[in-house]
Amino acid sequence: MDAEEQLRKTDFYSELPKVELHAHLNGSISSNTMKKLVAQKPDLHIHDQMTVINKGKKRTLEECFQMFQTIHQLTSSPEDILMVTKDVIKEFADDGVKYLELRSTPRRENATGMTKKIYVESILEGIKQSKQENLDIDVRYLIAIDRRGGPLVAKETVKLAEEFFLSTEGTVLGLDLSGDPTVGQAKDFLEPLLEAKKAGLKLALHLSEIPNQNKETQILLDLLPDRIGHGTYLNSGEGGSLDLVDFVRQHRIPLELCLTSNVKSQTVPSYDQHHFGFWYSIAHPSVICVRLMIRVFLQHIFLKSTIWQLKHLI
Ligand SMILES: [Zn+2]
Repeated sequence: MDAEEQLRKTDFYSELPKVELHAHLNGSISSNTMKKLVAQKPDLHIHDQMTVINKGKKRTLEECFQMFQTIHQLTSSPEDILMVTKDVIKEFADDGVKYLELRSTPRRENATGMTKKIYVESILEGIKQSKQENLDIDVRYLIAIDRRGGPLVAKETVKLAEEFFLSTEGTVLGLDLSGDPTVGQAKDFLEPLLEAKKAGLKLALHLSEIPNQNKETQILLDLLPDRIGHGTYLNSGEGGSLDLVDFVRQHRIPLELCLTSNVKSQTVPSYDQHHFGFWYSIAHPSVICVRLMIRVFLQHIFLKSTIWQLKHLI
C-alpha cells in the first residue's frame, strides 16, 4: 500500500461514525495531555515511559495496573480531571466517535481535597463543557467500582451512582466493575451490584480476563449484566467452558472487545488469536472498543457493531 492510499484509508476510518463503549478515562489520556499533566507536576519526576505504551511495545497486566497508579498521581485535582475529560472527549470526537461512554472510579485525594463526589462532578462538568462547545459527540459516564476497594467501598460507589443517575438525566447511566482481576472475589460485589440493578443502573462487568475463573465468572454472569468487558477466557481451554459460552449466547449478553488493550497487556498473544474471531464467527453481539483500533478494522465490522449497539442502547 503506498503512502497516499494509506492516508486515504486512515481518513476514511477516522470519518466513519463510531461508538466507543469501553473507555477508561485514565487509560484514554493521549501523550499530549500527559505532557501537560507532567509539566504541571515536575516534583513527581514522571517521564513518558512510565505512562505510555509505545507502538510495538507491550506490558504485563500487572505492569498496566502499576501504570494506572502513576497516572493517578498526575490526575489528583478536580482541575486535572476536568482537563483530562475535555481532552479525551475532544480527541474521541476528532476520531469520528459519535457516542462515547467513559468509565472511571471516583477517587478521593486528601492532598488536593478532592472527594469522590467532586471527582464525579468534575467529569460531568467536562461532559457539559464539551456539549456547550458543540462537539458532535454524545457522552455518558459509567461510574466504576475498583475491585481493590472491596465490598464496602463498592456499596458507597453504588450510592453515589444512584444519586447521580437520578440527577443527571441519563448522563450517568450505569456501573462498571473493573480493576485487577486477581484481587477480591466476585461474590463480595454481588450485593452492591444487585442493589444497583434494582435502582435501574446498567451493569458493564469486566469478567474472565484471566484464566481459570469459571466459578467467579458464572457468579457475575448470573447477574445478567448488560455488557461484558473482555470475556477473554470464556471460550478458551484455559478456564473457559461451553457452559459459559452457552449462557452468554442464550442471554445474548453483548461483549466489549478491546483488541489493542488485550495484546498490549499480553492477555492475548496476538491479534489473529484474539477471541473476537470466535464471537464474530457465531454472530454474537459484540462491539470493538478502544480508539487505537479505529484505523485497523474493516468498515463492515464497525457498521455492524455500531448498528447493533444503537439498537440496544435505545
Ligand atoms: Zn477495561
